[in-house]
Amino acid sequence: MVKQTIQIFARVKPPVRKHQSGIYSIDDDENLTPSLEIIIPRDLADGFVNNKRESYRFKFQRIFDQDAKQEIIFENIAKPVAESVLAGYNGTIFAYGQTGSGKTFTITGGAERYSDRGIIPRTLSYIFEQLQKDSSKIYTTHISYLEIYNECGYDLLDPRHEASRLEDLPKVTLLEDTDQNIHLKNLSLHQATTEEEALNLLFLGDTNRMIAETPMNQASTRSHCIFTVHLSSKEPGSATVRHAKLHLVDLAGSERVAKSGVGGQLLTEAKYINLSLHYLEQVIIALSEKHRSHIPYRNSMMTSVLRDSLGGNCMTTMIATLSLEKRNIDESISTCRFAQRVALIKNEAVLNEEIDPRSMIIRLQKEIQELKDELAIVTGEQRTEALTEAELLQLEKLITSFLEDQDPESRLEVGADMRKIHHCFHHLKKLLSDKKVLGNSTVSSEIKEQDCQEPVEEEEYKKLRDILKQRDNEINILVNMLKKEKKKTQDALHLSGMDRGDIRLIQSSPFPPGNPEGQRTSVFSAPTQSQDFSTFGYRSSLLHKKSGMREEMSLGRQEAFEIFKRDHADSISIDDNKQILKQRFSEAKALGESINEARSKIGHLKEEITRRHIQQVALGISENMALPSVPDLQEDRLRSQLEEEKRRYKALFTRLKALKVEIEHLQLLMDKAKVKLQKEFEAWWAEEATNLQVNSPAAISLNHMKPFPQSANSQQDGSQLLSNQSSRSREAHAQGTGRLGVCDMNSRRILPPTCPSRSSQEHSSPRAWLEGSTAERPASSVPLTGDSQTDSDILAFLKARQNILQKKCLGSN
Ligand code: ADP
Ligand code: MG
Repeated sequence: MVKQTIQIFARVKPPVRKHQSGIYSIDDDENLTPSLEIIIPRDLADGFVNNKRESYRFKFQRIFDQDAKQEIIFENIAKPVAESVLAGYNGTIFAYGQTGSGKTFTITGGAERYSDRGIIPRTLSYIFEQLQKDSSKIYTTHISYLEIYNECGYDLLDPRHEASRLEDLPKVTLLEDTDQNIHLKNLSLHQATTEEEALNLLFLGDTNRMIAETPMNQASTRSHCIFTVHLSSKEPGSATVRHAKLHLVDLAGSERVAKSGVGGQLLTEAKYINLSLHYLEQVIIALSEKHRSHIPYRNSMMTSVLRDSLGGNCMTTMIATLSLEKRNIDESISTCRFAQRVALIKNEAVLNEEIDPRSMIIRLQKEIQELKDELAIVTGEQRTEALTEAELLQLEKLITSFLEDQDPESRLEVGADMRKIHHCFHHLKKLLSDKKVLGNSTVSSEIKEQDCQEPVEEEEYKKLRDILKQRDNEINILVNMLKKEKKKTQDALHLSGMDRGDIRLIQSSPFPPGNPEGQRTSVFSAPTQSQDFSTFGYRSSLLHKKSGMREEMSLGRQEAFEIFKRDHADSISIDDNKQILKQRFSEAKALGESINEARSKIGHLKEEITRRHIQQVALGISENMALPSVPDLQEDRLRSQLEEEKRRYKALFTRLKALKVEIEHLQLLMDKAKVKLQKEFEAWWAEEATNLQVNSPAAISLNHMKPFPQSANSQQDGSQLLSNQSSRSREAHAQGTGRLGVCDMNSRRILPPTCPSRSSQEHSSPRAWLEGSTAERPASSVPLTGDSQTDSDILAFLKARQNILQKKCLGSN
């Protein structure tokens, strides 16, 4: 049993706006517990909290500042938890913080770069690497991915997942057994035998989550996601199975609605936007208070699911994500306060061992038989019916193993059944008499041999002649082999071009089909082929989701999509990733070539060594000499070359394997980004269509054209209270004051209307500059009907709008 308090870590996100300093400081003295000091700027100190403290200090296990890389986070936070999960304990890592503070970035990773992959992919990679290394146990890994939104659980990996709305997903419900263990009904478990498979499940879940999200449900900020790795291990032959669960949890944004006090002053007393988080806090408070007997786990689905992770059988770690900017100070303090309470909770992790039911059944069956036998003795009941074929066979097996057992103490256990005892004696007698007959025959043959001693010389002579003949034959065979070898080498030289077809084949796929040992390594072994197939299945299902939407597009829509894509914030990262992917592919191709080279070199060296062996043997025989005892220098040289080549091969192979994972990850990132793009386009298009239908042509261009999606910067800015922000923009929209987006020349993207105030000053009247270029305005905008003619009208309109925007941008610069 391991007793320990929940470990708390803090991670500070790089600020969106640079040059924000002096808000916090980190005291990282090696001899002390690290602490984070949040300093309240003077201008905030008056109105912000009801006491006027100017700084707050919080202790953490470790604090990671803005520049901490994902690798460091994994090594320090997740790796120890993964290790304890591998040892058979339950583990949980959860990220807590306001929206935009980096929870998803920390748990899952950034959507753009491979190096930004977060705790989940890195942990999967680490776990599978360890499982491959450890051959002493049999492991099985399953994955589940649960989303909790509005107190309802949804299975993100449901195989029948065709729903496009969260509400359409199968609901996961809680069941409590008599021992008060929580079970999740309808949550699918998927076996993952490799890192790639597990990674695919992660991306599949994320994509499903993204597709199901709507502006109304804001699932990504309001829901909790629990990615769980279920690991079972068993020693071969043992009946005991260990189960460990690793929950990796991305919680909903922890922002609170601050209550307004008298005179509009903000009070510290604030409520969570998210009800589950409120219950989570209740549980944490109850757990951190001594002598509390009732812990209100049952109040919410999330606390029920995480019950073991909070005050139970689990090693739990919390990451407080902080976006330490001036406007986020109150939320940051709340997050740290919450962490301090969490740190008081003690957990007791135990090994979860269980007897394998199959072994248990066998054991119980044996026990029943023994009891029956005992009963027969006690009751004196004599059984008279004949033993069955199976029973006889079983008995004979027992006798054989009894006789073969070297242990003199071993016993022949057949129970108290007299029929069996009789049969055993009978069988033993038969065996003994059989042996006797055999024994006699050997004795008689020995005698016969002794009788024929006279013609010994003649025999000897014959024997020697035979040996000589044998040797002659051997020499002939060896000489023939040598000739053949020579011919083979020539043929090989002659046909060196022969393999090209083969090699080309291998080159086109960056991954070689096998290793030089002639066996396939586990990475590309037969089971992997089926994995690749399933991997393909997952990817193609992602792609299907994407292309499914695309297929239905009319030409006009497709073109509008192209424009939309070009101006979308994510297009740069998609293009970047495309470039990187291209680079990785050519790297993989080059590696594949080097691997082939190394492989054929290894093959040649091996052949040469064998040839040399044969030559030596043949030489020794033909010259009737013993094999030279001195080491063959040339062979040594060949051997060391061979070793060197093998090392090179291995290094190249390992690199290629890593590259394969990276390529896979990048492809999944891109797929996800593309699905996102498509989804946003569909939403934008649908909104445009409704607006076009509702409004007159003149009004359309003024009030209801929403800008293209947010740029990267504005997305990062989402850390304000979302409800406020979105209601504000909704209001603006409703009142018809929504502004057209402006073009940011640096990024060539269109910013959302809520963003820079510049837009209202410089383009105070969108109508003015739209009307100023009437030539480029479409004659009319027709309501969307879905047919391509109408669509192309809309397209014309879009293009015109695009031109206007671009011109305007050039003008304003
Ligand atoms: P949350 O999940 O808490 O709402 P996200 O993880 O989505 O927040 O982060 C918001 C934005 O900030 C994302 O664009 C993300 O890429 C970026 N981000 C968060 N943490 C970091 C970090 N440590 N380094 C770089 N970018 C980060
Ligand atoms: Mg998030």
